[in-house]
Amino acid sequence: MKEIRCGSCHKKLGQGEYTWLSIKCPRCGTLNHLRTESPEPERQRAPTVDERSD
Ligand SMILES: [Zn+2]
Repeated sequence: MKEIRCGSCHKKLGQGEYTWLSIKCPRCGTLNHLRTESPEPERQRAPTVDERSD
């Protein structure tokens, strides 16, 4: 789990798992846009021909 904190005043807004989140801080009113980058970036592999002969 990740701590979600306000980018302006660092108030803890919550915790959890998210990929994209928009949350308004109740203390300072800053609208935080939070985004996590995927831990394993999907690589766009060059299309290869799978040589399988069934
Ligand atoms: Zn704040």
